[in-house]
Amino acid sequence: MTSPATKLVQSGIGWDPAYGAVVPPLYMSSTYVWPEPNVESKGPYDYGRTNNPNRDLLANALAELDGGAGAVVTSSGMAAIDLVLNLLPAGAHMIAPHDCYGGTHRLLSARHQQGQIRVDFIDQGNLDAVQAQVTPETAMILIETPSNPLMRLTDVAALCDMARAAGALSVVDNTFLSPLRQQPLALGADMALQSTTKYLNGHSDVVGGVVVAKTEELAEQLAWWANAAGLTGSPFDSYQTLRGLRTLALRVNAAEANAKAIVACLRAHDRVTQVYYPDAGLALQQQSGPGAMLSFCVTGGADAAATLLREITLFRLAASLGGVESLICQPATMTHRGMSAEARAEAGLDETLIRVSTGIEATEDLINALKAALASI
Ligand SMILES: *Cc1c(COP(=O)(O)O)cnc(C)c1O
Repeated sequence: MTSPATKLVQSGIGWDPAYGAVVPPLYMSSTYVWPEPNVESKGPYDYGRTNNPNRDLLANALAELDGGAGAVVTSSGMAAIDLVLNLLPAGAHMIAPHDCYGGTHRLLSARHQQGQIRVDFIDQGNLDAVQAQVTPETAMILIETPSNPLMRLTDVAALCDMARAAGALSVVDNTFLSPLRQQPLALGADMALQSTTKYLNGHSDVVGGVVVAKTEELAEQLAWWANAAGLTGSPFDSYQTLRGLRTLALRVNAAEANAKAIVACLRAHDRVTQVYYPDAGLALQQQSGPGAMLSFCVTGGADAAATLLREITLFRLAASLGGVESLICQPATMTHRGMSAEARAEAGLDETLIRVSTGIEATEDLINALKAALASI
């Protein structure tokens, strides 16, 4: 069987039907000529919201990477989440992780307040707590693992089994690991989604998303809604993301190797009180590697964390993740500032917690930068 790394490099290469270009050209046109005024004569493309060659090439590559029957490329990760909600009847019940991505929490809460859905946010690490909320009206279970920023793990196969037994759809937000480190559809999920803004594009210059469906039927429903509601991604973003995908395997391997080295350094450091990295337990069962996201707590309180963030070189102080460049952030004041202080305390998310998205710079440079910053606190 051809390996994913090869498929990512080869996907769409030599596709160009017009001139035989090796790299698929960019089709920006919003509309396409009809040879005759009847639908039989129409070519495969007619209007850019409905379909576009670059978006289709990217969707095919991503469907294959996740082992799905089809994929829909969206204009952002949030558009991917909103797209799957369209599959639910009005007022349907859904279950989501209590520590899901902040934007997801905001969207689901607003849809709940509108009465579009009824959502229960639950600690999905506790399978009994999830089962206790499942009712005959439960139509969807959304899963996100590892969680942000504490890298908590939930059992994907068990939750997908639970959803199936209840007649509900299961959806996994797999943004933190990418399909190269976790395969939600193989673990039993109906749909896997990604913010392609992160690892898949990998160069921090596109905002995009994708939903991959296990069955053709689900893929068709998703494509219908994406067209009807206008959620599809742009040709240029699709072109850029396919280009980013070519090096996904190299980038994920390099970033993960750096993360492992950083984790080893942090675990041995006397100014570090906690390190969160998914390299044990359930991770060994459902992931093919720990990935390149980690977080840690420092001694000396909020001031020490602020000093470290001010002093550190190479690691840029910014939200987001999954790019070639290393990023560092303080979830309490940055990515998770929308949460109440009580909710943050309950989630174990204080101001000494620091999150890192490891890039692909030389390992020793990153370690030296981190050690120097830790020495400054
Ligand atoms: C970034 C992110 C999203 C949202 O994606 P956008 O592309 O920013 O809209 C959703 N889920 C997770 C886990 C993310 O990290």
